Amino acid sequence: MFKDFKKIHFKMPKNLSVWHIIIAFGFFILLQMYLMNPGVRDISYSEFKKFVKEGNVLECQITQTMIRGKLREMERGTQKNAVFITARVEDPDLVKDLEAMGIQYAGHYESPWFKTFFFSWVIPLMILFVIWRFIFKRYGPAGSIMTFGKNKSRLYVQEDLNVTFDDVAGIDEAKEELQEIIEFLKIPEKFRSLGGKIPKGVLLVGSPGTGKTLLAKAVAGEAGVPFFNMSGSEFVEMFVGVGAARVRDLFSQADQKAPCIIFIDELDALGKARGTSPMGGHDEREQTLNQLLVEMDGFDSNKGVIIMGATNRPEMLDPALLRPGRFDRQVVVDRPDLHGREAILKVHAKEVKVENEVNLHSVAAMTPGFAGADLANLVNEAALLAARRNKKAAGMPEFEEAIDRIMTGLEKKKRLMNKKEKEIVAYHESGHALMACSVPHADPVRKISMIPRGIGALGYTLQKPTEDRYLMTKAELLDRIAILLGGRIAEEIIFKEISTGAQNDLKKATEIARLMVKEYGMSDTIGMITFDQDSRPLFLNGSFTTNKEYSEETAREIDLEIKKIIDDSSRRVKALLTGKKEILECMAKKLMEQEVIEGEELKKLLEELHKSNGKEHDLKNIYP
Ligand code: ADP
Ligand code: ZN
Repeated sequence: MFKDFKKIHFKMPKNLSVWHIIIAFGFFILLQMYLMNPGVRDISYSEFKKFVKEGNVLECQITQTMIRGKLREMERGTQKNAVFITARVEDPDLVKDLEAMGIQYAGHYESPWFKTFFFSWVIPLMILFVIWRFIFKRYGPAGSIMTFGKNKSRLYVQEDLNVTFDDVAGIDEAKEELQEIIEFLKIPEKFRSLGGKIPKGVLLVGSPGTGKTLLAKAVAGEAGVPFFNMSGSEFVEMFVGVGAARVRDLFSQADQKAPCIIFIDELDALGKARGTSPMGGHDEREQTLNQLLVEMDGFDSNKGVIIMGATNRPEMLDPALLRPGRFDRQVVVDRPDLHGREAILKVHAKEVKVENEVNLHSVAAMTPGFAGADLANLVNEAALLAARRNKKAAGMPEFEEAIDRIMTGLEKKKRLMNKKEKEIVAYHESGHALMACSVPHADPVRKISMIPRGIGALGYTLQKPTEDRYLMTKAELLDRIAILLGGRIAEEIIFKEISTGAQNDLKKATEIARLMVKEYGMSDTIGMITFDQDSRPLFLNGSFTTNKEYSEETAREIDLEIKKIIDDSSRRVKALLTGKKEILECMAKKLMEQEVIEGEELKKLLEELHKSNGKEHDLKNIYP
C-alpha cells in the first residue's frame, strides 16, 4: 500500500494540479457519453407524441426524466433504427397511447452505479488527494509520513568536512588515542600487510558538548575519508523494521566508500541494554540494535571502515555492543581543564573579532565546568553583544556578560556545579588523595581533579600503580578500602554531613571487604573458608535468587564480618584525617583554585605544609 503511494509520488509531474485532474476526468466522461450514444436525435416531446401517433416508434424506455427509444426509420433513408431521446413531460395519457399503438415500452430505473461511483469514490479520493498535496507543500517531502520508506535514497555521507585536529582543542589525550586510527585510514595497506589488528568500533564517551562529534569529524578530515553521520535516535522509528533497514542502508553505503568513518551519535538511544523495556518483547529499538550488531560483525575491518559511536551514558549500553570486535575501544572525552579551555577559546576567537586586550586565560579561569560547546557559545555570544553595542570587536565586558548569561543557563540545566557542590567535591577528592599519601601500601597519587569525568564522577583521584600486582596482602586490601572511604569521611569531618557523591566508593569498598571475607579467607571469625560460589544473581521465574550454598546463619556471619571490616576502616580513616585536618583544608583550597593538582605539585605542597607545621613528616607515600 505504502509502496504504491511512493510510486505515485515519484512519477507524478511536479506541477500537476487538481484542475488538470478534474478537466481530464470531465473529458473522459464526455467521451464515454459520446461513445455510448452514437447518432442520438434529440427531439421535442410533441414531436415524440407525433411519432407515437403515426406508429413511427419501434420501442421506448421511460425513465424519470426522459424517454429514449428507437424510431422506425422513415425520413432518413440511410439510418436504420435511429435512436432518439426526449425530455419527459407530465403526460397521464402516454401509456394509453403507447398501448394503443402496440409499442413495446419499458420503465427504466436509473442505474445508480454512476452516482454511487462518483460520490463514494471519485469525490472522496479527490478530497484526499487535495489534502495530500497540501501537506506536501506545507512540510515538504521529509515531513510527510508517506516518505518514510524513501530513506533508501537518502545519503548519509558528508564529504569535504574541512575539520582537522587544529579545530579541536583541549582534549589532547583523546586526540592522541585516535592518532592510530587516522594512520590506518590513511594507509590501510600498511596495516594489512603487517597483519595488525585494527579496531572496528571506537566509543567516544563524554558529557554533551565536549566535542565528540567534532573529534570524529576531525579524524575523518585528517585522514581525508568520507564521514557518515547518523544519530541513534534517528534509527528508532515508529514503524518496526524501518530502523533496521536504515542501518543496513547506512552500512551498504559506507561499504562502497571505504575507507571511511561511520559516526553514530547518541548511541545509547538505540543501544540501551536489551530487555530493559517494561513491555518486554522485541520492539523496534531491539531490532535495530540487532541489525547494528549483525552489520558490525559482518564487517571486515581491514576494508577500512571505522565505526565511531558517541554516548554520555556508557553504562546504559547493551554489553553486546562493547564486546571484542564491536565498540571494544573506549576513548574518554573529558571536559577541558583550565589550559584546555584557554586553547578552545583561542580556536573559536579566531572566527570572530576580539579586542587585543581580551585575556583569554582569565576568561578560561572564569569558566570552570564549561564544555567545548559552551565555550564556542560564549565566544559567539560575546561577538553578538559587541555587534549590538556597535563595537568593532568583542572586549572584556562583553565576555564577562556572556559568561554570566551562559552560566545561569547551564546552572538551570544542572550542568554546572554550584559553589557548595564544588567545595564538597574538592574535600572529597582531597580526602581520597590524602589517604593515599598516608597509608603505607598505596600507589602514589598522580593527579587530583575536580573536573567531571565521564558521567557520574564529579571529580577523580588517579593513582599510578608502581608495578604489576598479582598478589595482594590483607594490609594492602585494607589500605585500599581506607582510600576509598577517605572521600566520604573527609566530607563528614568538614561539613558534618554527608552527600550522595560517595555511593560508588562505598560500593567498591564493600566489594573488597566481601571478597576478603568470602573468597580470600581473610576473616578471623569465619576463617579460611571460601564461599566462592557463583554469586551472580540468577533470573528465575522472574525473581532474583542467589544460589548460595551456605546456611542463613553463615550468611549473617559473613555480613557481620564485612560490616566489621568497613567499620574498623572507617574509624581508622577518621582518626587519620582528623589529625591532618589542616592539610586536608589546604589541599582542598588549592584544588578549588586550580581544579587539577598534578602528582609533583601535590608532593611539593605536602612537603611545604609539613615544614611550616614543624611536624614530623609522616606521609609515607608522597614520593612517586
Ligand atoms: P558533542 O558531540 O560531544 O555533544 P560537539 O562535537 O557537537 O559535542 O560540539 C559542539 C560544538 O562545540 C563543536 O561544533 C565546536 O564548535 C565546539 N566544541 C566542542 N568541543 C570542542 C573542542 N574540544 N575544541 C573546539 N571546539 C569544541
Ligand atoms: Zn570518591
